[in-house]
Amino acid sequence: MADGLEELGEFGVIRLFREAAAPGEGILKGIGDDCAVLEGPPGSRLLVTTDMLLEGVHFLREGTGPRDLGWKALASNLSDIAAMGGLPWGAFLAVGLPGDLPLSWLEEFREGLLECSSRYECPLLGGDTTSSEKGVVLCLTVLGRVPEGREIYRSGAKEGDLVFLGRPTGESAAGLTLLLHPPGPPLSREDRQVLLAAHNRPEPQVELGLLLSREGLATAMIDVSDGLLQDLGHICEESGLGARVEARKIPITPSLLRFAAASGKDPLEPALTGGEDYCLLFTLDPKDQARARKAARRELGIELHPVGYLTGGRKVLVGEGDRWEEWSRRGYDHFRD
Ligand code: ADP
Ligand code: MG
Repeated sequence: MADGLEELGEFGVIRLFREAAAPGEGILKGIGDDCAVLEGPPGSRLLVTTDMLLEGVHFLREGTGPRDLGWKALASNLSDIAAMGGLPWGAFLAVGLPGDLPLSWLEEFREGLLECSSRYECPLLGGDTTSSEKGVVLCLTVLGRVPEGREIYRSGAKEGDLVFLGRPTGESAAGLTLLLHPPGPPLSREDRQVLLAAHNRPEPQVELGLLLSREGLATAMIDVSDGLLQDLGHICEESGLGARVEARKIPITPSLLRFAAASGKDPLEPALTGGEDYCLLFTLDPKDQARARKAARRELGIELHPVGYLTGGRKVLVGEGDRWEEWSRRGYDHFRD
């Protein structure tokens, strides 16, 4: 254990590579944000992100159907483009496939991928294909673009900025619990469908990212892939700040509320530490709050949810009034969970 990767954790491993990375010409951001940011065609920036999905680690072939998986593989990468305020441009798909994989599985996977690709206008541009000795291996790389100076980094937050969520969190984690521990708590068919869809068919908030970028509203942004507290922690680290998350302001959807009640759990737990929500988490100067909420309502028909504010120090605290505490578990870590 002492010498293993559990000690270092996922983010210690990333740090190891980050420390070794050299700067290069035309590179505005390398490791450390949702996408790398490079000089693009005149007047624009190029965004690049990559993510892997491994059978047995990210999905179970029995749990997530191939069509949903195709959607999710692209959607999770598009969420990183959205987190920079970018417009999707194109995708590359690298696959390792076991020789005995049914052709129908692959065809359905392709359908789901293409559905997401046409919904977000992000065509498949290339990839790579190999055989795999153990399970399905998927790696998506997505390119995006954003006008010069309109990209939104994790590092731009200021003390006193407000923290907002583009959509409530936690349903995806509840959906995963239903998949991993069937039949799960007693729930209506509708609630079950809502929670499973949140996990299997996440909608990246591309339009919201574009709006915040175009209007110059967000000071920092990230997408929630590992858990609200963990991902807010990344904004804090990169911005050199701390944050307070106001527990009573955390939005909890009706389905998540009923799931938590039926499982005898606190809904705050999945809402603050559940992963794979793929919604946007961003910070705003308080003076822009009304403008942002109005624009999101008018242009996208969505509500933005204020969940806290940035402070000095480096801690992410949860609470209210004069009671604040640090949660020991903030989200998912590949080598610790
Ligand atoms: P996200 O959840 O937004 O995909 P991650 O937490 O996976 O972000 O990664 C954070 C940063 O670390 C990103 O800039 C990513 O490109 C980089 N990164 C992750 N793994 C590696 C690696 N093995 N080598 C180099 N960079 C990495
Ligand atoms: Mg991300």
